[in-house]
Amino acid sequence: MSRYTGSVCKLCRTEGEKLYLKGARCYSDKCAYERKPSSPGEQGQSRRRRKVSEYGLQLREKQKVRRIYGLQENKFHRYFKEAESDNGITGEVFLQLLESRLDNVVYRMGFARSRNEARQIVLHGHILVNGKRVNIPSYQISEDDQVAVKEASKNKDTFEEIFEVNSNLTPPEWLTVNLEKGEGTVVSLPTREDIEYPVEEHLIVEFYSR
Ligand code: SF4
Repeated sequence: MSRYTGSVCKLCRTEGEKLYLKGARCYSDKCAYERKPSSPGEQGQSRRRRKVSEYGLQLREKQKVRRIYGLQENKFHRYFKEAESDNGITGEVFLQLLESRLDNVVYRMGFARSRNEARQIVLHGHILVNGKRVNIPSYQISEDDQVAVKEASKNKDTFEEIFEVNSNLTPPEWLTVNLEKGEGTVVSLPTREDIEYPVEEHLIVEFYSR
């Protein structure tokens, strides 16, 4: 399955809620969902009135989270299987695994304006973990990991713009960040409480358990 390359704002309208896929724009009055929340090709009113089946609810929740992290179905499902084989609560472990991806951490630290941009930044070798270059977006971070923008990349226009846009960003409690230096530390692994977007992970567990 190929990666989605269409308008990401369309995905928010399809899911019927903001997925925050475009960084600062999502918090501005330029947000396409704020301007026109109805689903593509539908009037918002009719969408809300339509009765959604249990399966439909589970599918939508799964698609929503998959789109937030920008993953293809096979990779997303692999995270679920890994969570299932863990001794913890499957839904929570699943979200923790997604949140612990390096591209997500780069985004959360403010070294990128969106997860998609973070993925590109990692792929292009701009990120160091504990002083070593890591160019694998799915790399799972660990407690006490030091994540930094490579010294030679910090002065590039792209990073200056990113740091400027994210200068008021407050990182989640499980991370500490020095944005001026382009460095951060994973204080602890994220917990369920650290996932701040609305998600009913039990629906995803039910979807994959059918
Ligand atoms: Fe979604 Fe962000 Fe686009 Fe708004 S600006 S529709 S939140 S991706």
